[in-house]
Amino acid sequence: MKREFAVIGLGRFGGSICRELSEEGMDVLAIDADEDKIDEFKDIAAHAVIADTTDDKVLKELGIRNIEHVIVAIGDNIQASILTTIMLKELGIKTLTVKAQNDYHEKVLKKIGADYVVHPERDMGRRIAHSIISTNILDHLELSDDHSIVEVKAGKRMDGKTLVDLDIRAQYGCNIVAIKEADEKGINVSPMATQTIEADDILIVIGADKDISRFEKQLVVED
Ligand code: ATP
Repeated sequence: MKREFAVIGLGRFGGSICRELSEEGMDVLAIDADEDKIDEFKDIAAHAVIADTTDDKVLKELGIRNIEHVIVAIGDNIQASILTTIMLKELGIKTLTVKAQNDYHEKVLKKIGADYVVHPERDMGRRIAHSIISTNILDHLELSDDHSIVEVKAGKRMDGKTLVDLDIRAQYGCNIVAIKEADEKGINVSPMATQTIEADDILIVIGADKDISRFEKQLVVED
């Protein structure tokens, strides 16, 4: 069944969400105050409307209260982002995802009831920094302030060893939740303790940051 979304603000971030949701067959209402943006998205999204969402009359007229999930991707104009979020909250939108421009903006958005606050530039910067530190760290996803999931290339030190041999949970306090074969040929979710790891395998590891860091330093060796 098609689910309904609205994306407000069609900059690089909002535009990319709108494109992706539409390509996945979702029903998307694209909104931007800029006519050129709406021209660009009128053949991509199911509906595209020029509107300034800081005007509550306009928001009501758009029938936005019937939409299940609204993504606010207004960037530079923090005041417009906050005002739009407050009004959407008042209209009773079930799920609100809002892009924050900085930490202060994020704090305010959480306070006024945004369900998900995203910080794409900061988060992508962190992910890239982790993959720069070690060429074996392929990706890094923050779960909370002190827990993450990382994708890591097993490397030489783990080659030919089983999960029992490495005893990762007891030694490092983190868990290998999946093992991807090289070239993404297959993925083994919840691997058995007897599974043998190969140097080119990609391990998906979940745990506290301090434990993951110890695991990386001691077992993940640069090729
Ligand atoms: P990105 O980094 O994602 O490209 P950005 O952070 O630079 O975006 P802006 O370009 O400032 O963000 O805003 C994104 C879009 O939001 C713009 O296309 C802008 O026209 C739209 N926008 C800004 N204010 C409003 C508003 N009040 N109502 C509707 N759309 C708005």
